[in-house]
Amino acid sequence: MASRGDFHLHSTASDGILSPSELVDLAYSHGVRVMALTDHDSTEGVAEARAAAARHGDLTLIPGVEMGTDIPGGEVHVLGYYLEPENVELQAILARLREGRRGRGLGIVEKLNEMGLAVTWEQVQRIAGDASVGRPHVAQALVDKGYVADIKEAFDKYIGRNGPAYVEREKMTPAEAVATIVRLGGVACLAHPTDFGGREDGAANPLDLDALLTGLKAAGLAGMEVYYKEYPPETVERLRAAARKYGLVAWGGTDYHGIHGPNEPFPGQMHSPLPEESIEALLELGREREAGRARKA
Ligand SMILES: [Zn+2]
Ligand SMILES: [Zn+2]
Repeated sequence: MASRGDFHLHSTASDGILSPSELVDLAYSHGVRVMALTDHDSTEGVAEARAAAARHGDLTLIPGVEMGTDIPGGEVHVLGYYLEPENVELQAILARLREGRRGRGLGIVEKLNEMGLAVTWEQVQRIAGDASVGRPHVAQALVDKGYVADIKEAFDKYIGRNGPAYVEREKMTPAEAVATIVRLGGVACLAHPTDFGGREDGAANPLDLDALLTGLKAAGLAGMEVYYKEYPPETVERLRAAARKYGLVAWGGTDYHGIHGPNEPFPGQMHSPLPEESIEALLELGREREAGRARKA
């Protein structure tokens, strides 16, 4: 069903296929009138998206970002809305998150080379394509070179937590991300709460949503994705109950990337569309922030 709001969208500023202005035009053509650009660890696309949205007149663009954070055995994504891209501290934090992933990938390749395994950084990048490089891409490189039979063996033998080529990277916890977003004047929202990346080695990720929400609420979390592309009504209902329990606004979006094939829902195309009250709640928080900034200026 078409939704007037979509608060989770990716562009070429991270791993989306469309430029920010192409994304804005596509969302508009599908009936979206309030949209948030939420690239991974980057606000680079916000200026272009803003300009494109302004051309439509009746389209509101909410500046956003999706921060990747770590939990033992998985990844939690935290959306930040209404952050100011020109904030120097924000940009330093996002740069560190981006560098952390790249630096770790390079470190793992270096260790593998020292062990006599001839995988190259170029090869790993090619496998990752538009995505930010992660350990599964290194594992695939090891498979392609015939050093291991499959991804699991690559993790078990070399790059898993106890493997000889394992490299730690600088980590941010979900609560730190939420607190950072709040401190910088933004609105924090937990992304796709049924998917915490799983474990990179494919094992099940035993995450307790209640425990996570208790901690994040204390850190200042304002909302959670309840309406998310193909979430069926029973999932929406379950998440809506959880949101209510923790006093969180039920937000959501399509997480559109344009890279998942012909069945990927377009911007605004959600199984259960965002309710008007959810859209209004985010716009209201935006107005409060604007008023606060105007007072300060
Ligand atoms: Zn995500
Ligand atoms: Zn996303």
